[in-house]
Amino acid sequence: MLLKNIKMKGFKSFANQVKLDFEPATTGVIGPNGSGKSNIADAIRWVLGEQSAKALRGSKMKDIIFAGSEQRRPLKKAEVSLTFDNSDGELDIDYNTVTITRRVSKDGRSDYLINNNRCRLKDIKRLLLDTGMGKDAYSIIGQGKVETILNGQATDRRGLFEEAAGISKHKQRKEKAVDK
Ligand code: ATP
Ligand code: MG
Repeated sequence: MLLKNIKMKGFKSFANQVKLDFEPATTGVIGPNGSGKSNIADAIRWVLGEQSAKALRGSKMKDIIFAGSEQRRPLKKAEVSLTFDNSDGELDIDYNTVTITRRVSKDGRSDYLINNNRCRLKDIKRLLLDTGMGKDAYSIIGQGKVETILNGQATDRRGLFEEAAGISKHKQRKEKAVDK
């Protein structure tokens, strides 16, 4: 499974629609301070369901909507899409290309979509479970997380290995069954 591209519109500093292609394998993003490199990682986390404004370096969730600049008025909504190549079938969905979208407007309306069909965040989480691509999985390792992983409890580290081994979904199902 490969992240083919990301499309952002109205997200943080990306007022105009921007599409970044990650194929063939991109190894780095460079740019001057404040040019938006970290905002790209924030955008990816946000689509994957990040609910904490602080984790996205803001104080309120609405801080992720373009707040205006000298040349441009603020925008009323933000939308980000991640498109994955699923020709290896790693995502349990019958499409070779899978696009996950999250959008939000200032009045509080918020939607998640899979291939343009509205869904729940739960559906996105389920789709990405055991792929390493979930919000708290290991595909995105933020500043400071390396230390947390190395210094953390063995049981927390074990979670990362379980995701990599692809057994998280079985564990969740087992926990659900035991709860009942
Ligand atoms: P560094 O090299 O210093 O880490 P960077 O390339 O990672 O920089 P970012 O942190 O991604 O930069 O981008 C910061 C810029 O994004 C700032 O100029 C900030 O004003 C802008 N920004 C953040 N949120 C918004 C918003 N809601 N509306 C408009 N601009 C925003
Ligand atoms: Mg940065």
